[in-house]
Amino acid sequence: MKSPFYIVETFDALKQGNKAALGKAITLIESTKYEDKEMAYALLGKCVPYTGKSIRIGVTGVPGVGKSTFIESFGKYLIEEHGKKVAVLAVDPSSQRSRGSILGDKTRMNELAVMPNAFIRPSASGNSLGGVARSTRETISLCETAGYDVILIETVGVGQSETTVKQLCDFFLLLMLYGAGDELQGIKRGIMEMADCLFINKADQNELLAKSAAKEYSNALHLFPPKENNWYPKVLLGSGLNARGINKVWEQVEEYKKTTEENQHWKANRKAQEQWWFKEYSKHMLIENITRTETWKENKADRIKDIEEEKLTALEAAKALLDSISSSFKK
Ligand code: GDP
Repeated sequence: MKSPFYIVETFDALKQGNKAALGKAITLIESTKYEDKEMAYALLGKCVPYTGKSIRIGVTGVPGVGKSTFIESFGKYLIEEHGKKVAVLAVDPSSQRSRGSILGDKTRMNELAVMPNAFIRPSASGNSLGGVARSTRETISLCETAGYDVILIETVGVGQSETTVKQLCDFFLLLMLYGAGDELQGIKRGIMEMADCLFINKADQNELLAKSAAKEYSNALHLFPPKENNWYPKVLLGSGLNARGINKVWEQVEEYKKTTEENQHWKANRKAQEQWWFKEYSKHMLIENITRTETWKENKADRIKDIEEEKLTALEAAKALLDSISSSFKK
């Protein structure tokens, strides 16, 4: 059991930008223990006035495209050239790698990891996409309270995690590889449509091919309907490895912020995200609270037996289970 002063102490240390406190606070919000949840909500409540001030950038692309290499260069650039404090978070529910080694090990982002103004946190492992995304969202609030003003959220561009990650960020960057002839293969159209900027990576290997891919992607983007925020995504090319072209990406982020602040989309997007998360949280809490009750547990066990004994079909058993919950509410 944590001391009653735990929240106040952790919050004060967080506001001072203490990285150890930030790490501990994230562990608290990732905890699945019920008593930790109450504390986590209390801590997050204290963070509300300090939340929302950063730029949240989603970075996606297929495995091997160079996301971590890019993030290392980009993070260093933002810290050294723009005096930013940069936090790197990952949404990677598919990862089987153990905690602490996804982004933090020696082979990934080792230079960024040791910078005082950088904070790198791997994704919570062994969790569902919803669970990882919720804790990432809460981690963003904690990082903002600790003074981080750019949050980079890395996700693998293959599954459906982008749709969820989109709900966490202000700006969505898609890293792309180029290949002869099949430029538009390998990445889903929906993900391209979501992107606010495309970055053709590894241009150091073959400038000509990278340029022609950039042209093709640019043409492809023109075929998409214009976005409601009046933003036209650009296709850039460069190299995460040599830190080439990353300044142009930052220019795009700043330009995007300026444009969408002027046309009110920045705020509207954050509000729409808040609504989305409200639905997400309420669904989750509903399930969590109901499945914790004895009524649920007992009835579920009985219905499983009914199926086993061929008394009920799956549909009938599920309906009976829900009916028992509804009638327990009426009591
Ligand atoms: P991730 O899976 O998307 O995070 O990709 P990584 O950052 O781990 O990079 C995958 C491989 O591509 C590594 O061997 C990197 O060294 C290499 N790589 C990443 N960026 C570049 C680049 O800009 N140019 C070149 N030539 N190689 C790169």
